[in-house]
Amino acid sequence: MGRVFAIELEGPVYTCKKCHTHLGVPNDVISKNGPYEYEFTRLFNTFLAERTSNDGYKGILCVCCSSEIGNYGVSDPNSYWVMRDELHGPEGSDDDEV
Ligand SMILES: [Zn+2]
Repeated sequence: MGRVFAIELEGPVYTCKKCHTHLGVPNDVISKNGPYEYEFTRLFNTFLAERTSNDGYKGILCVCCSSEIGNYGVSDPNSYWVMRDELHGPEGSDDDEV
């Protein structure tokens, strides 16, 4: 397997819990479903699963470790729901994992 090129983001970032790839920035979080799921308007270093589930979602996967980190609603563009459990950071912020 070749080396994966990942974008490095500036400032406070959410990273993949497993491989620490930069995935998103707090400014792109538009809503939160309690402490469990965050809705981002965009993500970095991710790709969508090819398969669409019966209820119209595609898995969002980390480009480096292929972990499934959330769900993308096919009928709802620019809405990326990410499981908080799969995110780490941002370092030093109130929102850093406990
Ligand atoms: Zn990862």
